[in-house]
Amino acid sequence: MDKIQYVGPPDGFDDDLPGDPVCLMRRVCMKCGAVADEEPPTVCPQCGEEMPAD
Ligand SMILES: [Zn+2]
Repeated sequence: MDKIQYVGPPDGFDDDLPGDPVCLMRRVCMKCGAVADEEPPTVCPQCGEEMPAD
């Protein structure tokens, strides 16, 4: 039997992300650096800054 164990993505990545850092970067608030819980367009959950889709 294989003993290879999947340890998952590095800390800081959401489980629902396929591992593409670009997706995560789009969620990072440019004002305070917080990471949104959802894809843009949305607003920063921490400071309320608008986070446009592009
Ligand atoms: Zn913010």
